Amino acid sequence: MDAARALRTIAFHLERRGEPTYRVAAFRRAADVVAGLSEDELAGRTRRGTLTELKGIGKRTAEVVADAVAGREPEYLTRLLAQAEPEVSGGAELLAALKGDCHSHSDWSDGGSPIREMAEAARELDHEWLTLTDHSPRLTVARGLSAERLREQLDVVAELNAELAPFRILTGIEVDILDDGALDQEPELLNRLDVVVASAHSKLRMPKQAMTRRLLAAVSNPRVNVLGHCTGRLVVGKGRPESEFDADAVFDACREHDVAVEINSRPERLDPPRRLLRLALDVGCRFAIDSDAHAPGQLAWQRLRPRGGVRRPGGAGGEHLARRRRGGLDAGVRRACPPLSTPYPPPSTPCPALPTPCSAFRTSCPSLEPRGVRPPYPRGCPT
Ligand SMILES: [Zn+2]
Ligand SMILES: [Zn+2]
Repeated sequence: MDAARALRTIAFHLERRGEPTYRVAAFRRAADVVAGLSEDELAGRTRRGTLTELKGIGKRTAEVVADAVAGREPEYLTRLLAQAEPEVSGGAELLAALKGDCHSHSDWSDGGSPIREMAEAARELDHEWLTLTDHSPRLTVARGLSAERLREQLDVVAELNAELAPFRILTGIEVDILDDGALDQEPELLNRLDVVVASAHSKLRMPKQAMTRRLLAAVSNPRVNVLGHCTGRLVVGKGRPESEFDADAVFDACREHDVAVEINSRPERLDPPRRLLRLALDVGCRFAIDSDAHAPGQLAWQRLRPRGGVRRPGGAGGEHLARRRRGGLDAGVRRACPPLSTPYPPPSTPCPALPTPCSAFRTSCPSLEPRGVRPPYPRGCPT
């Protein structure tokens, strides 16, 4: 195994199991250093035991390199792989149809890795695409992107896409839903993006009526494709209770405006809770199963079985655990959302009510809309 690759694989698996960034960063930094060495220098330094003289290589990373150079799977990696948490069982058909991820972050906002690294990790997971959804300006704590920086990012993504094709990075944003339901980015810029995930990150405890109005305003905005982590709850540590809102009304609006309800797979979120997921299914919503990854290894969370030890606020128990263990994602979600790899309705289906072919129902998930066509069309196409 190539030494740099071994170090990156270790970093991936540390992130996959939720290790803090500082532990992971050492392996990624060492990978960069090793990648910059010639084969001869790497072999020579390994032989002489002088790897640790290089800035960015410590005792542990040097051991990994030595194993890799000797043609062995590094012991550290072997141990990690043996401890790796299993993927969810059940829902195989739906999982096989998952071709990408609508929600991820890079080091342009509060993610830990460059866009390229996120894209390459997604490709290794057999994704065909990854949507980059860095934060919007008001989320300063997460280094939200100004309009100017987002425009810059679009150019960077275009260059990377030319290089990584046929893999595709879809352009996007996780745009803050402001207190009044407005979106925290220039409308024209949102129009240029392939996918807009709208999430509330502030004033999560506002009164039920106000929160309902806020979410309704957001999901009825034609620029929104996905409603991100709709309750805002946190289920680890001290936790955070769910925001209160009229879920019937909000999910109805999601269906009406073809906004996907996100199933956020972050272990500390697992949002929405099971009862709301069931409600959204009954309403007939579309879903986006997202990792909300802030590091390459977290992209694997989309398929990861939540830990048995996850505590729920207020003692509510095991909702997502139960849902995933039973493969309960499968039947219900399929009812609401066709297999994600299948264009729906078929691209050739014209809407008789419109002069141009209608894609009004194909805007919430990029795998359904591979060209990322935004909806200039009227909503509610009769087909
Ligand atoms: Zn968020
Ligand atoms: Zn996010």
